[in-house]
Amino acid sequence: MLKGIAASAGVSVAKAYKLEAPVVVIEKKDGVPAEEIEKFNNALEKTIKDIEGVKERAAKRLSEEELAVFDAHLMMAQDPEFASQIKSMIENDKVNAEYAADTIASQMIAMFEAMDNDYFRERAADIKDVTFRLKCNLLGLQIPDLTAIDEPTVIVAHDLTPSDTAQLNEWVKGFATAIGGKTSHSAIMANSLEIPAVVGCSGVLEAVKTGDVIGLDALDGYVYVNPDEDKVKELEAKAKAYAEEKEALKVLVSAKSITTDGHEVELAGNIGGFKDVEGVLKNGGEGVGLFRTEFLYMDNDHFPTEEEQFEAYKQVLEGMDGKKVVVRTLDIGGDKKLSYYTFPEEMNPFLGYRAIRLCLKEQDIFRTQLRALCRASVYGKLCIMFPMIATINEFRQAKAIYEDVKAELISEGVQVADDIQVGMMVEIPAAAVLADEFSKYADFFSIGTNDLIQYSMAADRMSENVSYLYQPYNPSILRLINMTIQGAHKNGRWVGMCGAMAGEPYAVPILLGLGLDEFSMSATQILKARKVVTSLSFEEMKKLAAECLNKDTAEEVLDYVKSVVD
Ligand code: PEP
Ligand code: MG
Repeated sequence: MLKGIAASAGVSVAKAYKLEAPVVVIEKKDGVPAEEIEKFNNALEKTIKDIEGVKERAAKRLSEEELAVFDAHLMMAQDPEFASQIKSMIENDKVNAEYAADTIASQMIAMFEAMDNDYFRERAADIKDVTFRLKCNLLGLQIPDLTAIDEPTVIVAHDLTPSDTAQLNEWVKGFATAIGGKTSHSAIMANSLEIPAVVGCSGVLEAVKTGDVIGLDALDGYVYVNPDEDKVKELEAKAKAYAEEKEALKVLVSAKSITTDGHEVELAGNIGGFKDVEGVLKNGGEGVGLFRTEFLYMDNDHFPTEEEQFEAYKQVLEGMDGKKVVVRTLDIGGDKKLSYYTFPEEMNPFLGYRAIRLCLKEQDIFRTQLRALCRASVYGKLCIMFPMIATINEFRQAKAIYEDVKAELISEGVQVADDIQVGMMVEIPAAAVLADEFSKYADFFSIGTNDLIQYSMAADRMSENVSYLYQPYNPSILRLINMTIQGAHKNGRWVGMCGAMAGEPYAVPILLGLGLDEFSMSATQILKARKVVTSLSFEEMKKLAAECLNKDTAEEVLDYVKSVVD
């Protein structure tokens, strides 16, 4: 039995599939050209077949657009120039095929990466991908293929990347990862896919081999390796009880989120794209409180064009049918990287060049996104928010660019909605402290507790070593939230919360009492939160919140809330 962090609720028992990228070591050796060329031809043929196979299996779940990446890889693998350069090197230098493939590919990658052109940078990413496959085939190494999973499976991995999660099919019953915390991006993806997940489970890779039976208890955060019959029965019963609880909450799908004394709030869903909209509506979401647009960029091999983004935003706005949709502009950097963009090397990427900082510098990227958003605004009720705002000047600059883009579109004769709200995330303590000033400029706030806690506690949200410092109930955090809400209300602005804290059943009573207007969470948490809200009195929760602000520790706060609401 291993302990991890329950990141996406559920329980399952299934066979393990260990996801491990092979380690490729290339050595330079002497080779007989004819033999090496034959070896190369065979490996290249297998590489092409492999990519075709992955594409065919992925086609069942992905759109034409999403499949384009495989076409780009096929084109690269079939490029005669690429093959002939490798063969020439084998012939001229009498070296082994994998060394020649590695050398030629590295030269091409370096050349493309140095070009100041997105198209060629994307090609560099394609070459990397294709040559990785090619080298594995030359060395006889197995590449894991998640799309080929065709029986109930729990995936065990160091971490899952967005492209790994894009490949998960209906046979995947959960995953366990060695790193990550409640708010790491694999956890966020698991929630939106409604797949049970235990993250930050160190030792899991060493303890599990493919084919073992895994009992995944993602309610309490345990991974059982080859559990005995009694344990399996216990886990199956737990899974059943969880499913029944979920079913019972369904009566609240179209209920209002209103306290017993008539105070109404809004319960919304966090999404990563159009595919999550159905889940939000099905679970009674009254809007989208956070659309993390970075997934449009991360699940891609190029910066999405204005047209591609316009379609994506329009789809979501139409899908939500007039309900409010808060779209966050690009929040990239930190742990969120792009295969086609080189970030500067930094000691602390979470404190570095990311989100609005990058968008204010690379204004072409920002303007393209804002144009797409403004154009889509006529299809629903759009709110735009900027991530990682630390200073009023940053907000003013971002807002000025937005105004400029909007004016430009209008002068082109394009229709833009006239009721777009422009707000910001409050996830840096500096912004929380100065909220009463920020609220003169921003139409609304959305509190990002995942980062707000990381920055307040100086505790990396990706590190399981310091995950004990993720303390949403710590009075210091509650006071920052209180300042943010008070600061917003002073100027008549509304405040939401889209960090993981918003969906925690014991946090909801406190946040309600502090006056939070909107709670945005993963779709699967909405009904539980509604059950909590509808069972409480606002007046009572105001008193509870005031008490909590004056406690000393997170434990005291949590114990106190439990003693009042349980
Ligand atoms: C947050 O920081 O709380 C947040 C919602 O943003 P993300 O988790 O995407 O950083
Ligand atoms: Mg954040």
